[in-house]
Amino acid sequence: MINCKFNIHKTVFQLILADITEMDTEVIVNAANSSLLGGGGVDGSIHQKGGPSILNECKKIRRYSFPDGLPTGNAVLTSAGNLKTSFIIHTVGPIWSDGFHGEPEFLKKAYVSSLKLALSKGFSSISFPSISTGTYKYPLKEASVIAISTIKDFVATQEIISRVAMVLFSIKTYKIYLASAQEILK
Ligand code: ADP
Repeated sequence: MINCKFNIHKTVFQLILADITEMDTEVIVNAANSSLLGGGGVDGSIHQKGGPSILNECKKIRRYSFPDGLPTGNAVLTSAGNLKTSFIIHTVGPIWSDGFHGEPEFLKKAYVSSLKLALSKGFSSISFPSISTGTYKYPLKEASVIAISTIKDFVATQEIISRVAMVLFSIKTYKIYLASAQEILK
């Protein structure tokens, strides 16, 4: 297994080359779109492997809480159907245009909203995908710096979340995150 661990305050931060739908952390994060009704990439795999109960919960969230869709940077919680994890946090990262349309702030917000929600539920372990770097085309290096810095700053302020895994889906992505982590967490 390709995997690297760093200690941040009392939290173990892990980079792992894996499929996020196989993770056994208490919660995994879905790089959803604002419709919450499924899509490609991580979202498609989560709904496909987790089964229809996840979509049913997402539809209820749309109906009762976000009839116009989940705004970019927000996060909501559902159970996880047939997956190994118990819960899913669905968040919406920004679509990259040129970097001057609030993309860095929205990407940071997606990580912070997810971490705040996990903390409020008392979850001790969480897995993230590389939000926005697939269909939404956020440049990988820039996204990795935001992801790792945001996680670093957040976990240092709390003692509930003891494990954060950043789950990368290709060796190229893994190497970029590893280089950023070695720089930011040294
Ligand atoms: P977004 O729409 O936010 O860009 P995507 O799901 O298209 O979300 O891609 C986000 C990142 O997740 C990309 O780096 C993609 O390669 C990766 N990815 C796709 N499927 C999986 C998976 N099953 N597990 C982990 N990462 C995945």
